[in-house]
Amino acid sequence: MGEHWFRYGSERIPYKVCFTPNRKRHVTINVHPSGLVHVDAPDGTPDSDIRTAVTKRARWISTKRTAVLDQQKVRRVRQYRSGEGLLYLGRQYKLLVRADGNGSALAKMRGGNIEVVAPLGDGEAVRARLLAWYRERARQHFERRMIALAGQLNWVSERPPFSLRNMRSQWGNCTVSGAIVLNPSLIKAPRECVDYVLLHEMTHLLEHNHSPAFYRVLDRVMPDWRSVKLRLDGMATELLYDFF
Ligand SMILES: [Zn+2]
Repeated sequence: MGEHWFRYGSERIPYKVCFTPNRKRHVTINVHPSGLVHVDAPDGTPDSDIRTAVTKRARWISTKRTAVLDQQKVRRVRQYRSGEGLLYLGRQYKLLVRADGNGSALAKMRGGNIEVVAPLGDGEAVRARLLAWYRERARQHFERRMIALAGQLNWVSERPPFSLRNMRSQWGNCTVSGAIVLNPSLIKAPRECVDYVLLHEMTHLLEHNHSPAFYRVLDRVMPDWRSVKLRLDGMATELLYDFF
């Protein structure tokens, strides 16, 4: 994995390259919600091929990156008003605050919106309801995915128990006694990133440390985990510090 940059007009745009062994697709470029430009390539792709691919799409990269950085600025000055962007499983939704409604549900997803019923102008109430809603959705999604993924791991006999904890610098951890703790903010990340964290923590049930043996197992259960991790790392600050 390496840091590179290219010039487009007056901009100097950094990008990261991630090589994956046995990758079938050729060079692909993504711009993450953090603004990170992420290039995936099969192992052994020459630098010149990567440069060419990046230069060819320079205009697209620049436009897309400017748009996501603008979105990020909006999220930073959150006031919990209708129209603000929210991330859920890697997708962009719009917050819709409604003063009416029966008030029993914390929030609900409808179309491209996440609707919250709260008194008008009460940003703190909106925040509290969103937090509770995200936490509940996180618990349900993590549970479902752990059951699905555990089926591929012969050292896990059933879905291992886990708890949720808001953390500022970690997506999850697993104690030596096998207790898995997950960060509910992870529910904002793309599905494959969630799966990566779940697989990482469940692999610790077999190998407790980040030993070569641990990575051998992880390579087997998720061959492209480095690329997925880079994607998640690129959005960490944004997801961890948004409103939790
Ligand atoms: Zn670990």
